[in-house]
Amino acid sequence: MNIPPRVRFAPSPTGKLHLGGARTALSNYLFAKRYNGKFLLRIEDTDLERSKKEYVDQICNSLIWMDLKWDEELVFQSSRKNIYHQAVDQLIKSKKAYKCFASKEELLIEREKTGSFSYSGIWRDRSDADIENELKKGTSFTVRLKNSDLGHTKFTDLIYGEIKIEHSQIDDFIIVRSDGSPVYNLTNVIDDNEMAITHVIRGEDHIANTPKQILIYNSLELTVPVFGHLPMILGPDKKRLSKRHGAIGVQSYQDEGYQSKALLNYLALLGWNPGTEEEIMNLSRLINIYDLKQVQKKSAIFDLKKLDWISGQHLKNQNNKEILDNLRMIEPKWGEKNTDDFCFQIIELNKPRSKSLRELIYNSAYFFKNPSEFDQNDIGKVHKDETIDILLAFTKELQGLSDWSLVKIEVWMKLFIHDNDLNFGSVMKPVRFFISGVLNGASLFEIIFLLGKDLTTFRLKKGIEILSNRKESD
Ligand code: GLU
Repeated sequence: MNIPPRVRFAPSPTGKLHLGGARTALSNYLFAKRYNGKFLLRIEDTDLERSKKEYVDQICNSLIWMDLKWDEELVFQSSRKNIYHQAVDQLIKSKKAYKCFASKEELLIEREKTGSFSYSGIWRDRSDADIENELKKGTSFTVRLKNSDLGHTKFTDLIYGEIKIEHSQIDDFIIVRSDGSPVYNLTNVIDDNEMAITHVIRGEDHIANTPKQILIYNSLELTVPVFGHLPMILGPDKKRLSKRHGAIGVQSYQDEGYQSKALLNYLALLGWNPGTEEEIMNLSRLINIYDLKQVQKKSAIFDLKKLDWISGQHLKNQNNKEILDNLRMIEPKWGEKNTDDFCFQIIELNKPRSKSLRELIYNSAYFFKNPSEFDQNDIGKVHKDETIDILLAFTKELQGLSDWSLVKIEVWMKLFIHDNDLNFGSVMKPVRFFISGVLNGASLFEIIFLLGKDLTTFRLKKGIEILSNRKESD
């Protein structure tokens, strides 16, 4: 690319940042950074009733959390009304737009007459006197763009290729509503031009707006940017992703313990095929290889299992300090009574079997709290005739262990099993269960080593008590 691109993400602050918006922001960001361009953020808050400051903050926070920091100052449409009105005045003066005084009732009658929803142009060529007259009466009006019925508008979409619309399909659409507010298609064009946007990359749901926007660009004699429309994200039922499918807000994923690098990685892969086997990528790698040309036209299906897998892969390869920092963002007190070194060891142990920070917290809970609720079914699974005797002997020998190291524990446990002619499961299963509260997990030698002799002994004794009570009540 000869000139560094300038792209923007232009959310309306009428809700929290959702996955679709985040994917649009990410595509823009990657495109800008790949070609040393700029990624800008514009808040489209012309709908004063539905736009909320809290959503602006939320959207900005989510973008910052994802590391998608925008260049230059944030632009708010609400503070740019004059600019829109100047453009409208210019369009009216140059006869490219006109005031339409038709009432709702008139338009309805029109529609019934023509059998079409399209505006027939009743105010397109009215005399100045007619217009003056209505203005004097104080009749409210809209402003419409004057469009020829002839010819067509076409553009080459970065993803969908050439798109051509016959002008006979586009009526004289409204650019200023009767309450004086400019419509999205107009403000979007004016701002993209003012911000010198070279490429408009947005969701495919806006594809029908593009020809109208191009007509506005042309009427104002402005340079038309390049457009690229990203395919929609669908739920597993192939319907457009919505709340019905569960969490769709970026914030929910953050709260659930997904790390931004995993979410970014997953969102980038939605509908994009890098053409290699490579799937686990961080932001700088994505900047290097993300290519809109490889984005498929087909809608992408949101797949939580894939996100979990990607998230797990990131965790597995991540350094423990970074994981600890991120863990503490969602659970500030996690491991605070222990040394960082102890926390790092727990993370190291459980990260390969966790798909999110929350799962890591859940999987590590027994390091910080004695398990207290034992599943009766599971107790049944570990409770054999000889279990109490095994646990008694095991605990006794464990207490006598002189030095405490991982190797020592492993060697001793294996000898204990061998010397007493026991099978592995008859010892490991109940020991694991009573010291961790669950039947499966990380290496038992490491768990015992990290818990320490006192805590392990204490929990085993509790286990023996539970089994003995159970036996008595049988
Ligand atoms: N405010 C619009 C939206 O949130 C922006 C569309 C565009 O990028 O042009 O969908």
